[in-house]
Amino acid sequence: MVVLGIESTAHTASVGIVSENAEVLGLASDMYKPASGGIHPREAANHHVEVFPSLVERALASAKVNPRDLEAIAFAQGPGLGPCLRTGATVARTLSLLWHRPLVPVNHCVAHIEIARVLSGLDDPVLLYASGGNTQVIAHGSGRYRVLGETLDVGIGNFLDKLWISLGGQFPGGPAIERAALEGIDLLPLPYSVHGMDVAFSGMLTASQVLHARGASRENLAYSVEVTAYSMLTEITERALAHRKKEAVVLGGGVACNERLRTMVGAMAESWGHPSFAPPKALCVDNGAMIAWTGLLAWRAGVTIPVSASEVQPRQRTDLVLTPWRNG
Ligand code: AMP
Ligand code: MG
Repeated sequence: MVVLGIESTAHTASVGIVSENAEVLGLASDMYKPASGGIHPREAANHHVEVFPSLVERALASAKVNPRDLEAIAFAQGPGLGPCLRTGATVARTLSLLWHRPLVPVNHCVAHIEIARVLSGLDDPVLLYASGGNTQVIAHGSGRYRVLGETLDVGIGNFLDKLWISLGGQFPGGPAIERAALEGIDLLPLPYSVHGMDVAFSGMLTASQVLHARGASRENLAYSVEVTAYSMLTEITERALAHRKKEAVVLGGGVACNERLRTMVGAMAESWGHPSFAPPKALCVDNGAMIAWTGLLAWRAGVTIPVSASEVQPRQRTDLVLTPWRNG
């Protein structure tokens, strides 16, 4: 069984093709990069419209797969930016009608956990999902993935991007902050904002900007922001593990490419004797392969959707989606 998956929730347009044993046969992605500032949803959607035809061709060619070998077409139905989601959904509907293949809706956050689960072999982990727009701690319970904790304001990645741009840098801020943090020496005091299993970043953004205006270097700020923000994420992941009595951690989302975050979460899990796992970076960031893989699981469990009912769901919550493939 081979499934094609379409991802277009935010700045990444991506097409992935996976097999029944979770082998990524083909993956083609292209990221919209704003000329200045953050993501403009309409501009990102225009970018996706331009690149999708060649991404589909490239993914099929690299997978050496013919459309008639495909079992189903999966697409990210939400959550995400409306205009971006609609371009991906339109491509998926077109391919589904053209090739007479069933359409399978996938929740983007669930896809991050499913790809990490299959790659790690960890059956029932807690997921720390740290991306641009999303920051959530997720675990499975009673037929769905449950959001145990999340950001109360912006996603961690959007926070890092916003901060770096306001310090004179360019999008994306996360990787640039990671490099600058390696040169940081002083740990500056920043608001540590954990509320139960939730976190908030806007206070840290303001405080960092104030410190910068008073002369703090970008390197020291980058170092201090990483240590503080990633400690917050590690703390809520640890709390989720303890409360839900789970015994493994996986990471997902673009910010989970960060070596410091991987190391901190890994060390926390190890201190409890639990394994942790972060997918290779190409499968940590938004990608069509995780959509294809989750679509394959869903299709095998009987999930499909008619084109007429396949509208996108920009605010689709992780815990709204049933996971029949995990019901035993
Ligand atoms: P996603 O929304 O999952 O595609 O991830 C995009 C976000 O990941 C952006 O906000 C980036 O700044 C952030 N990001 C990517 N690489 C890194 C990194 N090495 N460290 C921290 N953040 C990162
Ligand atoms: Mg994502």
